[in-house]
Amino acid sequence: MCIFCKIVNGEIPSNKVYEDEKYLAFNDINPKAPVHILIIPKQHIAYLADLDDTTKYIMGDMTLIANKISKKLGIDKTGYRILINNGPDSGQEVFHIHMHLLGGKKMAFTV
Ligand code: AMP
Ligand code: ZN
Repeated sequence: MCIFCKIVNGEIPSNKVYEDEKYLAFNDINPKAPVHILIIPKQHIAYLADLDDTTKYIMGDMTLIANKISKKLGIDKTGYRILINNGPDSGQEVFHIHMHLLGGKKMAFTV
């Protein structure tokens, strides 16, 4: 079982910031910004590239959860970034799809 599935089932602890029937959000263990939260579906899907017509709604759901958390944490006006890594060149380390929510400072890296 992957590390994020273990967080979902409680085998590995996490600092939860949001939970519902299908999703979980928790603080990143190695934060790259004052706000650095990971939003994951409870369903195990390894890659963004694995999403298909039956699972594409997950992108929309995770985005709305990110927006909701940004308001709760008061970064909705200062701004934030959502980011998903997919595959080797992106630096993906955990192979369970997750959306990074980053905020609370000016981002050093701009595209
Ligand atoms: P990625 O490089 O997109 O796969 O991101 C994986 C993220 O998971 C990294 O930012 C890690 O710091 C984070 N991470 C790894 N293990 C844990 C954990 N047990 N609890 C919270 N965050 C974690
Ligand atoms: Zn998993």
